[in-house]
This record gives sequence, structure tokens and C-alpha cells, in this order.
Amino acid sequence: MHSIKSALAESASTLASISESALLDAEILLCQVLQKDRSHLRAWPDKQLEATQLEQFKALIEERRKGMPVAYLTGYREFWSRDFQVTPDVLIPRPDTELLIELSLQLIPSNQPVKLIDLGTGSGIIAITLAAERPHAQVIATDFSPAALEIAKRNAKHHHITNIRFQQSDWLDNVPDAQFDLIVSNPPYIAEDDSHLQEGDVRFEPQTALIAAQHGLQAIQTIVNSACSRLKTHGHLLIEHGYNQQRLVQTIFQDLHYDKVHTYQDLSGQPRVTYGQWNS
Ligand code: GLN
Repeated sequence: MHSIKSALAESASTLASISESALLDAEILLCQVLQKDRSHLRAWPDKQLEATQLEQFKALIEERRKGMPVAYLTGYREFWSRDFQVTPDVLIPRPDTELLIELSLQLIPSNQPVKLIDLGTGSGIIAITLAAERPHAQVIATDFSPAALEIAKRNAKHHHITNIRFQQSDWLDNVPDAQFDLIVSNPPYIAEDDSHLQEGDVRFEPQTALIAAQHGLQAIQTIVNSACSRLKTHGHLLIEHGYNQQRLVQTIFQDLHYDKVHTYQDLSGQPRVTYGQWNS
């Protein structure tokens, strides 16, 4: 027999060697099995688990022990206070990307029909959050991967978003002619020989969403380059990048004559998003 408390303690010790948040991981997975939130676990620590619940929980803990990210096991991750469905076809939302949202919202007036596009939308977190926070905006979300677009569409439907159009496209290649007030992207930017790719959750994430050639800069170079002809005069470009890419990304913007080039730091103080304005 296992109580909630003993099942959690045992699982947390099983996960201690592979996760820095072993107890939290176990709690989230048990919530998934019980279909309750974490306050239930705190309120009823001595409640006995049924045999089928224990079996399901142990199976999830075993998957997690082998490295599978918690978000892929539950199928959800929260971003900007909304739940998003995630599968191994899309990157798991990171808190770092909330910086892109903050900066975008500062740039978009709340009551105007601005046109904006999110390139490489994945699960749709950026496009959907901006469409929800700015209902007057006309949003396009692209991805190269049809499987990712399906997830993004499901997330948009789940949040009752109607001001997004989805488009399968290699960056801006298949996007019908239009000029944008804002182009935003969290592209792949990790170099293929980066040792982080062998650790933790990223091992299970789609490589096309993580890795880019030219030391991680190829996608950024393509986007910044093609955005020149697709931004309105005074339009804005915001790109997420690696903590050590600030100087190189700024150079890409400056070489193409963007104005007001500036890099902003994420919550952990790392250079994370570079901005440029198109004034030609
Ligand atoms: N920030 C992510 C990481 O370092 C990478 C996301 C991306 O490549 N866009 O794991």
C-alpha cells in the first residue's frame, strides 16, 4: 500500500539523480494520474492510492527516470498563465520566451489592427499569447513542420483565438505578400556541437527547433535578412537568441541597417532578445 506522501517520497528519491526538481516532477506526475491539483496532495498526504493509480504513476516515474521531460509526459506546459498542449513535435515553452511577449506587448498598441507574424511558432505560444492579449491584431503564425502547426492550431482553438492565420512556411518564404508592423521569432539557435544538447530535456525535443548551422546563427541570419523587405517603415523585429550571441546577432542587424538595435536580458539576466527597427 502507498499513501500519497510515501509514493511521492519514494519517487522523488528515484528521480533525484536525473532531475534538479525531483519532488516537484513527482508531484506534477501524480497530479496527472489523480487529475487533481497540487493542493490536493498537500491536503491529503495519508490518502491511499488505488492499485491502478499507483501503477500509472510508477510507469510515468519510470519514463521520467529515463529522461523524458515532464511536459511531454503530462502533455501540457504553462506559458504567460495559459496552458499549452505540447508533444515531442514541438519545443517545450521556456520562461525565457516571456521576454519576447513583454517586449512585443510594449510595441503593439492595444486598440489597433496591427499586422504581426510569429516565425517558427511551434506550439504557438508566442502567436497565441499576442493574439489573446491584442485581440485587434491580425496575427500570422508559421512553421516549417506540419505536425507543429497542428499542435499550434489545437492550442489556438482551445484558447478560442480567432485572429490568427496559420501558414506552413520556411520562415517568410510562403507567406503571402504583406507588410508587417512586427515580426517576432524564437528560432533554432544552438550550435550543433553544443554540449548542452546531450543533457536533460533538450535530448527529447525536435532538433529542427533547437539547432542551426553557422554556430547556431543561420536561421537568425535568414530571418533578419528576409524581414527587411517585409517590415513596414518603422516596423519592429524581435528575435530570441542564445545568451552568448548578443554581439554576433547585433552585427547581423547592423549590417542590414536596422535602427535602434538593442539587446534585452531575460529573467536570469542573460542577453536573450535583440530588437531592431526598420526605418527605410
Ligand atoms: N533556449 C533554448 C535552450 O537553450 C533553445 C530554444 C531555441 O533554440 N529556440 O534550450
